[in-house]
Amino acid sequence: MELKKEINIVWLKRDIRSQDHLPLYLAEQSSLPYIIIFLLEPSIISYPDTSLRHLQFQYHSILQLNEKLKPYNQKVIVCYAEVLAVLALIADKYAVKNIFSYRESGIQLTYDRDKAVAKFCKANNIHWQECQRDGILRGTKNREGWDKQWFATMHSPTIVNNYSVRESVEWKNPFYINDDLLQQLQKYPTEFQPAGEDYAFKYLQSFVSLRGRNYSKHISKPLESRKSCTRISPYLSWGNISIKQAYQFIYNSKRNSPFKGALSNSLTRLKWHCHFIQKFEVECRYENKCVNTGYELLEHPTKEDYINAWKTGRTGFPLVDACMICLEKTGWINFRMRAMLVSFFCHHLYQDWREATYHLARLFLDYEPGIHYPQFQMQAGTTGINTIRMYNPVKQSQDHDPNGIFIKKWLPQLQNVPVPFIHEPYKMTLMDQQLYNTIIGKDYPAPIIDIETTGKAARINIWGHRKNELVKQENKRILATHTRRKTEDENS
Ligand SMILES: Cc1cc2nc3c(=O)[nH]c(=O)nc-3n(C[C@H](O)[C@H](O)[C@H](O)COP(=O)(O)OP(=O)(O)OC[C@H]3O[C@@H](n4cnc5c(N)ncnc54)[C@H](O)[C@@H]3O)c2cc1C
Repeated sequence: MELKKEINIVWLKRDIRSQDHLPLYLAEQSSLPYIIIFLLEPSIISYPDTSLRHLQFQYHSILQLNEKLKPYNQKVIVCYAEVLAVLALIADKYAVKNIFSYRESGIQLTYDRDKAVAKFCKANNIHWQECQRDGILRGTKNREGWDKQWFATMHSPTIVNNYSVRESVEWKNPFYINDDLLQQLQKYPTEFQPAGEDYAFKYLQSFVSLRGRNYSKHISKPLESRKSCTRISPYLSWGNISIKQAYQFIYNSKRNSPFKGALSNSLTRLKWHCHFIQKFEVECRYENKCVNTGYELLEHPTKEDYINAWKTGRTGFPLVDACMICLEKTGWINFRMRAMLVSFFCHHLYQDWREATYHLARLFLDYEPGIHYPQFQMQAGTTGINTIRMYNPVKQSQDHDPNGIFIKKWLPQLQNVPVPFIHEPYKMTLMDQQLYNTIIGKDYPAPIIDIETTGKAARINIWGHRKNELVKQENKRILATHTRRKTEDENS
């Protein structure tokens, strides 16, 4: 019997880049030829947290990576199939010695998938090396020493990946993407941030040289923050750049920067990025169970009309609606507006946070489960240990979009409404409405709730519940597992 040829596999997940990439480095170090695979797994891409924009970003990141790998006769093979089917077929033809990948801190679905892969590897005598990602630890019981090791990781050298022209592995991919999906992936909307590692560095460069000047001042403003924030989140989420690369880039730029403070502030957030993912790594049930089990006791009667109005940007509160429409069109809004959307949904509309998580996940171009669910719960007030912040959308609008420029950009139907009414157009008299050619209830929805009444009710419900015995008991467990100190405040 002819002996199978030995090969290695590099399995790309949320790490679509050519540099500071340990799995690719390990593959190059080995004398064996290797193939690089990226999978569109039907069970995962049909999960409600995933949307076409995520796949488009991944696909275009791969196109850019392939350009970089082309001179070395290497490319990423994209398979539309479940991982076990792909691995089984490759293993049928080749003696797979190693699979190199990063370890994913994802949702239960990907965790279970990875357990099945580990079992497959064991049964087939394949060594699967899952590399540590961004200083996230597996198997830790608490946060003792976490900060220190994270900083040590961030200040250690990045990996310089050198590629060689080597013997290619002949493998005809039978799991190609069908024409329909391929066409959709290729049509990348120009309103979204462009994908790929070159763009990640372009955004970083313009941030440290110019855009970051007003980072801290504009961080809560829906319009100005689009320019002043780093905007590197989609690149981090899909791994076009590693946290370490971003950290070192900003850190090294600080020395000669006229706005050192702003850059330091952005570095702090890179740590938050990992801090939240570390929480999720330890407890991925945060996707659909309250961090603090005591909050499962609160009942939230479902109101479909509220939920639909929120999802479609038709609540009658201009800033809330403008944010939702902007998100739909561009895939990004700033932290404060994300927090306000969640706060409005959970506190003012008094809906269960789980009714909203996937909707925003699909809209965020930068969807990262490890940040998304813990942040969602912090804003929903279900952690028990964080200060509950209830954002009044009218006040947020007056404070952060005083002239309604952001609102009018995304809600052109309010174009004629003068500034004194732009935050509360429902306060216009009928005569005003006719004068400004904007009829409430026809051109723009009447508010679906009375913000004063709902605010008061939510405060009583949620703050009152903090005294619940189970909530208090759970607080102790959460503090011991996820924090170093007694309290934490990662929020801006
Ligand atoms: C309900 C909710 C859901 C969120 N979901 C996501 C998500 O799915 N993916 C995601 O990347 N961010 C998420 N965030 C955090 C934050 O809003 C975004 O990271 C930020 O707006 C991205 O823009 P930026 O890259 O310009 O951020 P910058 O302010 O320039 O910060 C730089 C980087 O630091 C990290 N970061 C910034 N703020 C936070 C934060 N509060 N918590 C954790 N990390 C942070 C991000 O990686 C970000 O790219 C969420 C926030 C809320 C309130």
